[in-house]
Amino acid sequence: MNVEQPYEKFQDEIEELHRQLAEANDTILAIRSGQVDALIVENGHGHQLYTLKTADQTYRVFIEKMKEGAVTLNEDGMILYSNSQFASMVNMPLAKVVGLRFAEFVPEEYKETFKDLMSRGWESDSKGEISLMNERNELIPFLLSFTSLELDEGPALSVILTNLSTQKENERQLQIKNEMLEEARKKAARMNEELEDIVKSRTKDLLVSREHFKFLADNIPVIVWTAQADGNADYFNKLWLEYTGLSLEDSRGSGSQKALHPDDFDRVVQVWNQALVTKLSFQFEYRIRRASDGEYRWHLGKGEPVKDDQGNIVAWFGTSTDIENQKQEIDRKDEFISVASHELKTPLTSLKGYMQLIQMQPDLSDTVNLYISKANASLTKIQHLINDLLDVSKIKAGKLKFSTSAFDLGELVNVCCENGKYMYPSYTIKTEISDTIMVVGNEERIEQVLMNLINNAVKYSPQNKEIIIRAEKDTNFAIISVIDSGIGMSRADQKKIFERFYRVEDKKFLTPGLGMGLYISSEIIKEHQGELIVKSQLHEGSVFSFTLPLAN
Ligand code: ADP
Repeated sequence: MNVEQPYEKFQDEIEELHRQLAEANDTILAIRSGQVDALIVENGHGHQLYTLKTADQTYRVFIEKMKEGAVTLNEDGMILYSNSQFASMVNMPLAKVVGLRFAEFVPEEYKETFKDLMSRGWESDSKGEISLMNERNELIPFLLSFTSLELDEGPALSVILTNLSTQKENERQLQIKNEMLEEARKKAARMNEELEDIVKSRTKDLLVSREHFKFLADNIPVIVWTAQADGNADYFNKLWLEYTGLSLEDSRGSGSQKALHPDDFDRVVQVWNQALVTKLSFQFEYRIRRASDGEYRWHLGKGEPVKDDQGNIVAWFGTSTDIENQKQEIDRKDEFISVASHELKTPLTSLKGYMQLIQMQPDLSDTVNLYISKANASLTKIQHLINDLLDVSKIKAGKLKFSTSAFDLGELVNVCCENGKYMYPSYTIKTEISDTIMVVGNEERIEQVLMNLINNAVKYSPQNKEIIIRAEKDTNFAIISVIDSGIGMSRADQKKIFERFYRVEDKKFLTPGLGMGLYISSEIIKEHQGELIVKSQLHEGSVFSFTLPLAN
């Protein structure tokens, strides 16, 4: 039996079927890509010509190339034709898509909408949005555009599907951005409103404080001015304008200098320039011309810098107070002190002389001798007081002059220390002398200064009774210090104690005195080209030091 023949026959048939399948695939591809629009097919009855009437080449190419999905449905909603784009949209091979019902891709919740759209599509061109499910069960939004067609094979519905995912995502992003923008706008509007409120209230505050300032400035009996950071004056109150007869325009900038006494001009300019550099408040006395009678009158001028948070000067505020009357009062008082102390000096000298004569009388009882020595002690105190008053007058008149010579500072310090010990036996007074120090000065006057400092150290150290007098040598001068551990004084008082008649007001610690000692001492040291200074801590003590030139 020959079994080879049917097997070979099957082989041939299979080969023929393969060939036909390949040909069919090629044909489909050619049709899709628009390479053919007619084909001859061999069937059992010979060759037959098929023309692709609905598939005009150009449109087929378009449809294949476009981004949108395109399907044609028959009346039952079955897909007759699909482009590859739609197949990839629903994530299925193209061959599988054709023949399926379109509704299979429509999720349950959109089925009704789709049905509606489709029935409207059969009637006329229409559009609508639904989401379709792809094979991965993802919902994808689409715009569906329906157009009914009349094909030879019967009526068909063309559906163009535009994927709205990107557009929807963009819309969503846009929506988010819009919401953010709206939120930011609202926030900005709120901030703006708050800012406006602040500005309004600040403007009001500013107006009130400006009017307040103007009211005060124009109603106090003191000249008031303000200047810019660079020192150019920009405001003067009513009193200045009335007093000097200058207009505001004339006074602005450096115009106010027109009212100054010519002798004070350089000094005022110097103080001003220095303040602009140091950025510190300043004070000086100068004369301003009063327009009503042409008289130059003394004023006390004060300037204060106004600084911002960074410490930069933004303006200067200043005042000028007429102190002419006070000055004249002080002059009269000085004159009185001078005359009175001179007048007192003569009878005091004769009183001392008579006391000496009495003392020289024979057979004086012990009691009388005691009274005489007590009277002499009191006379010495009065003599010191009168001498101090005379010194103050001399200083005021610029007549504190004395001769100088070289002397041994150590010796003088020891003498003063001994005097102190004798006068204040309950105090421990020590010296610290580094070397033999020869200085140039008026020995009597330096003794006066040292004794004054020792007296003060005793007077203002009621509890810690140790006092040190130190003398040291520096390169060109000697430094002399009187150190105590007494009541000390505040920083503010340290600046003022060298002024004439200044006394620290301490209600708990009342001591007799007139505030002349330190003033006279510091003037004496100034005459020696030195300076008397103080370093002090309240309740801890004070150190008074001065310098003297070394003798060569
Ligand atoms: P007086 O002692 O007569 O008051 P001074 O001119 O000698 O005048 O001193 C001025 C002021 O300085 C004193 O009133 C006192 O308040 C203060 N003072 C002076 N020396 C000392 C000191 N060693 N310790 C504390 N305060 C002092």
